[in-house]
Amino acid sequence: MDIRHYQNACHWLAYLGSRFVAMLVLLLSFLGSAFAADHAVILMYHRFGEDRLPSTNIRLDQFDAHLEKLSNGNYSVWPLAKIVDHLQKDMPLPDRTVAITIDDAYLSVFTEAWPRLKAKGFPFTVFVATDPIDRKHRGYMSWDQLRQLQADGVDIGSQTASHPHMHLSSLADVDVELQKSNQRFLTELGLRPNLFAYPYGEYNLAVIERVKAAGFIAGFGQNSGIAHGYDGYFELPRFAMNERYGAMDRLSLAIDGLPLKANQILPADVVIGKTRLILVLRWRQRLPQIANCAVSTTPMTS
Ligand SMILES: [Zn+2]
Repeated sequence: MDIRHYQNACHWLAYLGSRFVAMLVLLLSFLGSAFAADHAVILMYHRFGEDRLPSTNIRLDQFDAHLEKLSNGNYSVWPLAKIVDHLQKDMPLPDRTVAITIDDAYLSVFTEAWPRLKAKGFPFTVFVATDPIDRKHRGYMSWDQLRQLQADGVDIGSQTASHPHMHLSSLADVDVELQKSNQRFLTELGLRPNLFAYPYGEYNLAVIERVKAAGFIAGFGQNSGIAHGYDGYFELPRFAMNERYGAMDRLSLAIDGLPLKANQILPADVVIGKTRLILVLRWRQRLPQIANCAVSTTPMTS
């Protein structure tokens, strides 16, 4: 029996519970199989070795340990786009497939992460908000540096122009953010990204529809969980890795996880107001084991 952790649902609930108190009814069915390989784990980083900002930073000794763990032979580190393509085409993934993503295009991606990832031969995706790059904000990469990454095979995804709280923006403003950033990517990098990461991991159903309409094929949050296509491709979870949540036991919890797939989640919109939280969980089959299901009330990243 596989003793890995079935954790997608409980981490997702912890994420919701950390932000909202509401009525929530979940109808879950256990559909996972230990070797189904129809899922993957997506890791999310922000800063590297910028120890004064621990909520978004991973220490270099932690990051080196992560990469060492990922290179020990048990894991397949794939480009995120390739994983999405396999999920969407129903093609099997290797067991323990992992993607590495990095948000916000901080300079330490260029100076610290890239050389380390390159040395390991690990692909990765950088989600970029275009305004800080255009405005040459201190501590961010330049377009030239992003082009260097791109030329080296690094994938670039979008995180809008100004990195707003999208679910609090008007839909007209959301459209402007998407169109403006898409145009800037086209001008500077010669392409429009087709993968999108919601700034702060925040979205609602209306935002998802605008992101789809802008031509993206998948959207990524910041809630912990295993990525699979059963809920569609615009609320794919990622495990945030930072100083506090970057210990090796948490990395193992993430990359050795298996999904609990819900066949229905109610309400559908993750922004669910401020009423009482009631959870109902149902499985069609007996779970082999739930080894880890931790609830946190502390948001993990900013
Ligand atoms: Zn961001």
